[in-house]
Amino acid sequence: MNGKKQHFAALDSADFPPFEPGEVWLVGAGPGAPGLMSLLGYFALGEADVIIHDALVSEELLNMAGPGARIVFAGKRGGRPSADQNDITLHLIEEAKAEKRVLRLKGGDPFMFGRGGEECLALAKAGIKFRIVPGITAGIGGLAYAGVPVTHRDTNHAVIFLTGHDENGVVPQSVDWYAIATAAPVIVMYMAVKHLASICQKLLAAGRAPGDRLAIVSNATLPEQSVIETTLAKAEALVREHDIATPSVVVLGPVSQYRDVLDWYGPGMRGNSLG
Ligand code: SAH
Repeated sequence: MNGKKQHFAALDSADFPPFEPGEVWLVGAGPGAPGLMSLLGYFALGEADVIIHDALVSEELLNMAGPGARIVFAGKRGGRPSADQNDITLHLIEEAKAEKRVLRLKGGDPFMFGRGGEECLALAKAGIKFRIVPGITAGIGGLAYAGVPVTHRDTNHAVIFLTGHDENGVVPQSVDWYAIATAAPVIVMYMAVKHLASICQKLLAAGRAPGDRLAIVSNATLPEQSVIETTLAKAEALVREHDIATPSVVVLGPVSQYRDVLDWYGPGMRGNSLG
């Protein structure tokens, strides 16, 4: 066995918290590359009786589940609307009441635009014991794979995380666009490609500089990752003229300039299955 593998074998004797029957663990799978899930998440995969996962969770991670685990898909597929949130929550509660070890596996971080909060509130209300295992979110870790540090002391002391659509599938109505446009030099947008033209118009109307850098990072952390760079004013035409691959995270603001030097995840770095 080489040194690297021996080091990993130490995990077998590591003291993980017990995953008790009747518990639900809400685990972040990270942005895509399987190696970006936490050690606790990896442990939970091996222990779980049932794994209920979303669409953006990689096949490689699911293959690491224990041999007896039941794997249930609860996300969007083939353009059909996502599984009803109430059904998912009820399913989690039912499985926990049947004394299963239930792993709820979600892309990125469960609490970042992932409805993890809603699911936990329902579990708490039903008296189900749960644990939250945070994950690496696409808007931070995904950008890192594109050579974009989400903060840098020379450019920004604040970041805004914005979702491009609300529960009705439209640009969030409750957002104060003037505040969003002016409050932070960097705005990271999830689920924003579909309505990007309208979001950019709102930000421009609220006074955001047309020349502000904008980068779209698609399939972040995966071998097929791609990045398109433009400006706030030109983004509308860009999304009209190009098919942008999904999932994509959009970053507005000066931090994408660091890609010129930090774009480390090139073809030579993409060959390994974990990341
Ligand atoms: N909880 C997740 C976000 C869920 S919302 C997280 O913390 O990352 C789904 C959105 O996340 C997508 O529309 C996209 O904006 C972003 N996203 C997720 N995975 C991504 C990836 N590999 N590359 C780019 N964006 C991603």
